[in-house]
Amino acid sequence: MYRGLHFKIILIFVVFTVVLMAAVGSVMILGSYTYYNDSFVSTMNTAFSDDGELIGALTDALSQEDYASRQGDILRSYSGALGIGDYRNYYVLDGQGRFLVGSDAVLGPSLEITPNIVSAMAHNGGTAQNKWADYIDYAVYLTDGTNESIVYVRDSQQQARAFGRMVLRITAQTLVIGMAIAIVLAFFLSKAITSPIRSLTAMAKQIAAGDYSENADVNSNDELGTLSDTINNMKDVIKTTIDQKTSEQRKFETLFVYLNDAVVVFDKYGELMHINRMARKTFGMPKHGYNEDMQSFNLSAMLARLGLDYMTVTEKYKDERNCVISDIIYDGKALDVTFAEFRYSEDKANRGIMCVIHDNTDRYELDKSRREFVSDVSHELRTPLTAIQGAVETMQEYPDLPQEMRTNLLGMADEECKRMSRIVGDLLVLSRLDNKRTAWKIETFDTCDFLDHVFEVMSVDAKNHGHTLSRGYPDDLPSLTGDKEKLQQVIVNIVSNSIKYTPDGGRIAIDAKPTESGIVICVADNGSGIPEKDIPRLFERFYRVDKARTSDAGGSGLGLAIVKEIVDAHGGNVWVQSVLNEGTKMYVYLPYRTSLTDADAASLTKTDI
Ligand code: ATP
Ligand code: MG
Repeated sequence: MYRGLHFKIILIFVVFTVVLMAAVGSVMILGSYTYYNDSFVSTMNTAFSDDGELIGALTDALSQEDYASRQGDILRSYSGALGIGDYRNYYVLDGQGRFLVGSDAVLGPSLEITPNIVSAMAHNGGTAQNKWADYIDYAVYLTDGTNESIVYVRDSQQQARAFGRMVLRITAQTLVIGMAIAIVLAFFLSKAITSPIRSLTAMAKQIAAGDYSENADVNSNDELGTLSDTINNMKDVIKTTIDQKTSEQRKFETLFVYLNDAVVVFDKYGELMHINRMARKTFGMPKHGYNEDMQSFNLSAMLARLGLDYMTVTEKYKDERNCVISDIIYDGKALDVTFAEFRYSEDKANRGIMCVIHDNTDRYELDKSRREFVSDVSHELRTPLTAIQGAVETMQEYPDLPQEMRTNLLGMADEECKRMSRIVGDLLVLSRLDNKRTAWKIETFDTCDFLDHVFEVMSVDAKNHGHTLSRGYPDDLPSLTGDKEKLQQVIVNIVSNSIKYTPDGGRIAIDAKPTESGIVICVADNGSGIPEKDIPRLFERFYRVDKARTSDAGGSGLGLAIVKEIVDAHGGNVWVQSVLNEGTKMYVYLPYRTSLTDADAASLTKTDI
């Protein structure tokens, strides 16, 4: 309360009044003292002027024997002119300042020798005054050549002091009244000033608390009114700016939280500042909140998890203050990590590191499978080429080779050429399927006829290997729609695998079952079977379970890849069940409503014919 503006204004008024009254009182007291003093000196100077009759009379009296009492009488007769009274007396002293006669017979004998008396004793006038002393006095030295005396007038200043006290009393009374008036005036004035300020302060507090709903209510045309308008405007500007910033911040927060890349932010000490949803998922942390694992998760811990060396990162990072480290394999994924410096406060020293972790597994896998594919293609083509080259070189080197050997070599070269041609043919089929440039011939066909045809085609080959090829599908299977020829290729590829990978004399069965949405065809054999670990990769290009054994069987690992592409294009599905050394069941599901459309067929046919 005592610090408030209200109190200060009242205090200022009170202090002002006290100072003013003190100044007025002091000036009046000082003025009265000075006036009294000056008037004493002026009265004495006039009375004792050299050519005045008083001096003449007093000097004449010196010639008489009883000059002292005569001079006393003369001075008494001049009492009015000299102002002699209760507080002012005259004295006649001898040349050595000793009291002779005077108006105050009591004080006279013990009269102190003042500087003015001393001056008169030295035959000079004694007129010097000190208005602050207890008295003022005036001494005149008289002589007629024979006798000498000093006429001395002394005033106790009691009158001046009494006047001063009266002035002081009046001043004090005025001060009390003045102070009362000042307090009342100051109270109302300060109220008039402080109420708008209070209103503005309340509003400023509301703004600080984030409440921009109300305006300051000061209806005056003075500076406070202007201040109020300015604050209202300022509040609107702040509100707009904060709204914009909040909206921007929300956008960034949403982006940060739901970004598909993992974002982790560390402060200048490498301690965790922020981590988004994806980053929590990447590092196996809880979706919300903090657990123990996260408490120790700092920059070094993250780098250690990613298998990154702190020195390598800082070395790459130091020049540009950012760097990207690609293809970090973490938790079965290929990650690209971007490190970038950022400032998180006005203080330049507060620079942290933001890490954006992008999952690049798809690209990485694609690159990897492309590289593997190129290597597989080269390898698959080089094998027959080497064989052909060997045959040709042998025949060139030995022109006299027996006919039988020549025939063998030529037969082998022909086999390898066919093998190469088959591989190239398969690759072309796959490439067309990849580029969606396959010329589909969509038709609706009888499923039994379709399977019978495959059965007929494969019977000869099966017979050659001593296999029993059987069919177990009913005669009334619903018809299918799709590219009949390509679908036959699918089943042929599967049956030919069974023939190839079943030891001679095996059993192979072709079955089919209608379901609500399509037909499931199954080709089962009692062959070598497929190890469980190889099953997921069976449909990859050039993937073979046992390369040595399967290439003896003439396989290049493209058959099932083509199967999958054709079945997928029809909207179907293909899967395997196999037990090693017991046999394999290969299933193909084909929907009645194929996903291939007439539009696919028409547009593709045009470009491919
Ligand atoms: P291609 O079919 O191109 O001539 P391939 O038969 O070797 O060559 P896929 O048909 O794609 O290639 O088969 C891939 C691999 O799957 C084969 O190499 C073989 O190891 C294995 N496989 C496929 N079917 C069977 C099966 N019925 N029994 C045992 N293994 C099989
Ligand atoms: Mg095959």
